[in-house]
Amino acid sequence: MIVKYERTAAYICPFCSNLTKKKISAFDFSGRVKAPLLCSTTGCREECARIALKNEKYKITVECPICGDAHSFTAAPVKFWNKRLLTYKCPVSGIDIIFLGEEKDVDAAVAEHTVEYADILPDYDDNSAESEMLYEILDCVHELRDNGKISCVCGSESISVQLINSCLVLVCDRCERVRVIETNEHNLAMLLNAEAIVIGN
Ligand SMILES: [Zn+2]
Ligand SMILES: [Zn+2]
Ligand SMILES: [Zn+2]
Repeated sequence: MIVKYERTAAYICPFCSNLTKKKISAFDFSGRVKAPLLCSTTGCREECARIALKNEKYKITVECPICGDAHSFTAAPVKFWNKRLLTYKCPVSGIDIIFLGEEKDVDAAVAEHTVEYADILPDYDDNSAESEMLYEILDCVHELRDNGKISCVCGSESISVQLINSCLVLVCDRCERVRVIETNEHNLAMLLNAEAIVIGN
C-alpha cells in the first residue's frame, strides 16, 4: 500500500466564520504530539481544531462553528492517511464541520456544503463597518492575551475567546467566569487603551 502522508484539511473558524484550507503532513506531528489547525484569516488566527496523536490514533478536536462546543473524533492512522475523504459532523446539528483527505475531494465536499453553511453561519459582509470593528476588537484581545494581559480574578491566565452573535466572550478556563465585549466603538477605544483586562471585575 502506498501512503502519501499528506492530507488537506478544511474547516470553518468558529470566531470569524471563514473557511481555511490547510495541508497537513506527517511532519506536522514529528517531535510533538499535536498539530494545531489555525484560522488563516489575518487578524484572527484562532485555533479552530487540533489533531493529536494519542494511543496510536489521531484524535481530532474541532471547535464547532455551528453549536460552539468542542467535538472530538478519532481516526486510525491507516484511515487518516488513506481515505480520499473523511468528514466529521457536529453531533448537535448533524452538519459536517471538518473535511480531511485528498485536496480535490475536500474541495468538492466543501463546495457542496457552501449553500448549507451560508444559511447557518452569521453573514459578515467583509467590508461592513461592523465586521471591520469586530476584527479590530479581536486583534486587540489577541494581542492582550498573547502578552499575558488578560486574566481572571481567580488568578488564572488561561482564557478562551469565543465569538457569539458578534460579541466577544472571554471565558476563564479555570472558573468559567465570563466577560462579554460587545462590538461597538466604546469598547474598541477601551481595548486600544487597555493595559490589562481582568475577568470578574
Ligand atoms: Zn477566524
Ligand atoms: Zn457542534
Ligand atoms: Zn477564573
